[in-house]
Amino acid sequence: MVSQKLIKALNDQYNYELLSAHYYLAMAAYCTEEDLDGCANFFIQQAAEEKFHADKFYDYITEVDGRVLVTAIDEPQNNFKSLCDVFKVALEHEQSVTKRIYNLMDIATDEKEHATKNFLNWFVEEQVEEEATMKEIIKRIERVGGEGHGIFMLDKELGQRSFSEPSA
Ligand code: FE
Repeated sequence: MVSQKLIKALNDQYNYELLSAHYYLAMAAYCTEEDLDGCANFFIQQAAEEKFHADKFYDYITEVDGRVLVTAIDEPQNNFKSLCDVFKVALEHEQSVTKRIYNLMDIATDEKEHATKNFLNWFVEEQVEEEATMKEIIKRIERVGGEGHGIFMLDKELGQRSFSEPSA
């Protein structure tokens, strides 16, 4: 039996994943405005991935007989100093997600909720990948000084990204 405390924390994370999607759409819109269509695509795909994460929480909460509650979402940051700034804000956001997942894991561990720990493990691994992706892109932007052919190539590459739900 999953405690109400843990259900509430899982529900908070459901809403935070939706907020993440919202944040990434704002980053996509900034990139589109800057004529960086590949980067815009990257963030649109990232938003789709966040919706998939939210869906995973929705399904899990429902499976353990919890009630999903959808809450209001804060207005995201819409303006950025540069492309590098966008990815730095994205990295900071992913680091905040990692902290939240770890907190959830701490609650599940305290409550000896092994099934929930198992569910959360997927997210623990996912966060390593999310942070690594953002760090790698920041490094590449810094390497080329934030402009020129290097950015053109990066934009082209990020235009190739497409998210599809992994099969269970
Ligand atoms: Fe996520």
